[in-house]
Amino acid sequence: MSDIPLQHSEQLTILVKRQQDYYRSGATRTVAFRREQLSHLRDAIHKFELKLLAALKQDLNKSELEAYSTEIGIVLREIRIAIRFVRRWSKPRRVCTPLSHLGASSTIIPEPLGTTLIIGPWNYPVNLMLAPVIAAIAAGNTIIMKPSEIAPATSSVLESLIRETFLPEYITVVEGGASLNTQLLEQPFDHIFFTGSSSVGKIVMEAAAKKLIPVTLELGGKSPCIVHKDANIKLAAKRIVFGKYTNVGQTCVAPDYLLVHKDVKQELISEMVKVIETFYGSSPIDNPTYGRIVNERHFSRLSEYLTEGRILFGGQTDEAAYKIAPTLIEGVALDSKIMQGEIFGPILPLLDYENSEEIFYTIQANPKPLALYLFAQCPEFQKIITEGIAFGGGCINDTIIHLGNPYLPFGGVGSSGIGSYHGEHGFRAFTHYKGLLRQTTLIDMPFRYPNSKWGMSLI
Ligand code: NAD
Repeated sequence: MSDIPLQHSEQLTILVKRQQDYYRSGATRTVAFRREQLSHLRDAIHKFELKLLAALKQDLNKSELEAYSTEIGIVLREIRIAIRFVRRWSKPRRVCTPLSHLGASSTIIPEPLGTTLIIGPWNYPVNLMLAPVIAAIAAGNTIIMKPSEIAPATSSVLESLIRETFLPEYITVVEGGASLNTQLLEQPFDHIFFTGSSSVGKIVMEAAAKKLIPVTLELGGKSPCIVHKDANIKLAAKRIVFGKYTNVGQTCVAPDYLLVHKDVKQELISEMVKVIETFYGSSPIDNPTYGRIVNERHFSRLSEYLTEGRILFGGQTDEAAYKIAPTLIEGVALDSKIMQGEIFGPILPLLDYENSEEIFYTIQANPKPLALYLFAQCPEFQKIITEGIAFGGGCINDTIIHLGNPYLPFGGVGSSGIGSYHGEHGFRAFTHYKGLLRQTTLIDMPFRYPNSKWGMSLI
């Protein structure tokens, strides 16, 4: 943030007030302004691209390929789509008016929410910070961004990028951790967009509820991946390994555990082992492009999971480098820690099943997941699973790539989230749809008035 040192909540109050004044000035409202700001953001991302790549390497050991395909590339595509469609999204829309309202016309007017707060996590610290910012800009809001302190290099580059590109009364980055968030959550925002864990999501929602501030919560959960007996096993193995071990499993929509039909379990395991070796070599933890666990706390949490079942493959760790090899594990109990919380790391439990009741039982033992993946050819089976189980979003015969389609809403359900974004869905998350009825003054229908006689009067 440029000119307001953030030591006291009074300074946050001043910042929020300046953003509210800027918003009320109407500066952010025109479509031309929004498109221009989106172009500025795109240019700034290009200018800072090398710094962003270096920061992602430093914070998470992300390779350039992964950083581009899962962070910068996705953000640039969101900008392209917003620039292209924002005029259409923000147009008032005429809707029907019932005959009982004869003479009136009705319009839905998309209106920005005002001054918004966007809080991000550390695992995709560029994408998950900037994608909602793009939606908030397109919708005409002012924005205070709070990146995760657990990816400090990326947080710092984002701070410079935003400070050099935008006025602080329009968009500002504030840096810090939970205590800064606590102060931010006392401010009178018009909307809070939070991405992070379900436990912190509850804290955010509780604070927002005190002021009746609407929230979008993008949270986590245990996302199952089902492999049915009729699946193309070679392809399933490749796509599961890709989705699970990208960012070493530190992905909100990573397949959390596998439910494999017992007839194809052995074949799937041997195919997955081959794929892991092809992608990461025979010793992934020594591969310099294989990512690392973000910090000591998560490293020891994950290391403990390794003791909760039989390791089929992998299991090696490097404590000094916070590295854990891609691991397949079986024989885990449903009430073990690994099956109770979101794994968020490169350990994949395999559970087998014989019939669909077992699938329902296992998945529904946990809250509604953020994602679900199904590898199966049979259309009836696809229907049984995708219609019978509640989940935020997902793929049939693939993993994680649904979040790269900006035409699909991305979000959770139940404890995996509230609301969604990406493309127009992001615009909608930061927009109030104002319903306006314009009544004629040429005629007046008297029958709604007390003691009225039936009939229409000309005025
Ligand atoms: P987190 O909830 O620990 O932190 C997210 C943000 O909240 C950070 O900015 C952090 O500073 C802040 N925070 C942490 N503790 C707080 C507290 N007590 N009070 C107020 N604010 C606090 O999440 P994380 O570890 O950064 O990210 C991992 C989690 O996020 C996983 O559960 C993952 O599934 C989820 N996630 C969800 C999505 C999604 O799109 N649905 C994407 C990425 C991550």
